[in-house]
Amino acid sequence: MYAYTIPLSQTVPLQLAGELSKRIFFVSEDIESFELVEQMDGEAKAVSAVRVATRVPLDAAKMQHMLDRLVSDEIVPQRSVMAQPIWRSGYPATIRDDTFDSMLEQGMATQSGEGQFGFGEPFIALTSHLDSLFQAAAQRSFGALEQQYPSLIPTEVLARSGYLASFPQFLVFAGRLHGELDSYKDFVEQVSGPTAAEDAGATVSRAVADHSTHLGYTLSPAVCYHVYEQRAGKCLDADLVSVTARGRCFRHESRYHRSLERLWEFTMREVVFIGSDDHVTDARSSFMREVFAIVEELGLAGHAETASDPFFCNARTAEKIWTQRLMQLKYELILPVAGGRSVAAVSFNAHGSALGEAFSIRTPDGEIAHTGCVAFGLERFAYAFVCQHGLHPSGWPVSVRNSVAASQSRRGE
Ligand code: ATP
Ligand code: ZN
Repeated sequence: MYAYTIPLSQTVPLQLAGELSKRIFFVSEDIESFELVEQMDGEAKAVSAVRVATRVPLDAAKMQHMLDRLVSDEIVPQRSVMAQPIWRSGYPATIRDDTFDSMLEQGMATQSGEGQFGFGEPFIALTSHLDSLFQAAAQRSFGALEQQYPSLIPTEVLARSGYLASFPQFLVFAGRLHGELDSYKDFVEQVSGPTAAEDAGATVSRAVADHSTHLGYTLSPAVCYHVYEQRAGKCLDADLVSVTARGRCFRHESRYHRSLERLWEFTMREVVFIGSDDHVTDARSSFMREVFAIVEELGLAGHAETASDPFFCNARTAEKIWTQRLMQLKYELILPVAGGRSVAAVSFNAHGSALGEAFSIRTPDGEIAHTGCVAFGLERFAYAFVCQHGLHPSGWPVSVRNSVAASQSRRGE
């Protein structure tokens, strides 16, 4: 391991240290771990350097240049707006710190790659039960239309929505080999040649990089973009249209992936609202209250607060974060998990008319539609649940225990 302390040309106020930490692994994949170095800057402490560890020798000047650019373009211009708490559950947090290790030991979770997991019972039944609670609430309150969408989404749809330019760090593109006989032959030779056996991973990666092309599709980073695309150029037939869908989502979380808290591949249930400004605003607020009631029925500790998205590499990062926080465009339900940490398990988002404009969706009055979405991270939610209630159904609220037992007996377990 190599260690470097990279001084920052501009110090970062401590209240923005979290925003800096969220982005450092995306500055260079050579960084294996990092630590922020604090120093007094006038009256207050501030981050004055970043200590990084790498496996390969580093061009320290280049790293300083990149960190300086991140700090000056995207961190320091952020006006610090404190998260505003808007709700707190009445339940105290009792956390089992060994939850993740126990899940691995019991085979309830198995790791198949970075940030990728397979699951066993009763975690599968728990996740389905939680999902059915969210879906039923959306159907009861808004008659939400249930839909299923593919995991792939046209890259053009993500470009149109602004996702490509806002979150390039997360993108996982779908590729395939060049559609040409010579290229296939070359590829096959490369992956079956004598060096292939010695260094299989690297050889295959090189061969894929040399011979592949972008398909025009990306692995979906969220479910709701399918919903807007489905209605592109259309006029809604009601003042509020609500759609719900559960889908696999993919985000390259670099070295930020951790236990079941932050995955590269995960499952999201989304409830999407499209309609007039008032209808969408009201729907988000009333659904938020329903979700808080579900959290209390589940006996979970947690709270909700204003939040912002991890925009990256975008000239408007600071402005977008400020607008989101100030106009309360994003709320998150935060649940405590093991290790003294907490995770955002649900987000409640308002997009104004940005996506209605991007996809030319109109209300029955001919106005540009407003949109909002509520997104549940099912693995995160279920993980927070077992961190708080334990892995065995005997410790779970009766309604959850009964539902899980019923689903297991249906499957003859
Ligand atoms: P975070 O602030 O934790 O990165 P986010 O604001 O990017 O989350 P959203 O884009 O609002 O999250 O996604 C909706 C929900 O999907 C989150 O509340 C969370 O439950 C889940 N989610 C998002 N990213 C991940 C991930 N990498 N692994 C597991 N679940 C995730
Ligand atoms: Zn969404």
